[in-house]
Amino acid sequence: MNIILLGPPGAGKGTQAKRLEGRYGFVQISTGDMLRAEVAADTEIGRKAKAIMERGDFVSDEIMIAMIESRVQKPDCARGFILDGFPRTESQARALDEMLEARGLKIDAVLLLEVDEPLLIERIAGRFACAKCGASYHDTLKPTKVPGVCDVCGSHEFVHRPDDNRETVAKRLDVYHQQTLPILPYYERAGRLKRIDGMASIEAISAVIDHYLEAHGAKPLSEA
Ligand code: AMP
Repeated sequence: MNIILLGPPGAGKGTQAKRLEGRYGFVQISTGDMLRAEVAADTEIGRKAKAIMERGDFVSDEIMIAMIESRVQKPDCARGFILDGFPRTESQARALDEMLEARGLKIDAVLLLEVDEPLLIERIAGRFACAKCGASYHDTLKPTKVPGVCDVCGSHEFVHRPDDNRETVAKRLDVYHQQTLPILPYYERAGRLKRIDGMASIEAISAVIDHYLEAHGAKPLSEA
């Protein structure tokens, strides 16, 4: 099963994507994480993307679609994939459908996490991740069990994204309104959009998502 997670920055897409990976064996494809890896490795794409990302603008469709196209063909995507942070424009949404169709693939569900935006800045400003395994945390909403120690891998090193500051978040929200929200009718028309209350607790959101996916044929790994 192939899924798209939609929602503004800080809505909890990454948290849900990581959880869905564990429960269903789908692969998270986070375009933001892929781009950050390119920047860290100082590749040609990374050098092009760095300043764009720091401003909160969008990297070109050409780069994004080429990245997704090569990623979805890897064997680990056979059980399914979760697109997190892609598509972000209607042109990306259309290009995605065309590219998948040419490979005999399709998107089975589009999950939209709807959130109260004034609270997003707070959510984003407090988030951080393990530098080693990427597990995500939040100062107050999801702290590590033992202060300063990653719950998953025990590492003591954490990172905070350079674009998770108030100014860039405001810009990213603005870009989300102008470019990403207009995608919704595209998926709504095709009956593929599921709206989810992203202000509920992580457990409640997870339950709604699992119920919806399982009603549409997803099988947890534990039952496979
Ligand atoms: P994210 O981690 O999803 O918030 O993405 C971080 C940044 O990467 C964004 O602010 C954009 O600059 C860039 N980016 C990620 N996904 C896309 C996309 N689908 N199209 C264009 N730019 C993207």
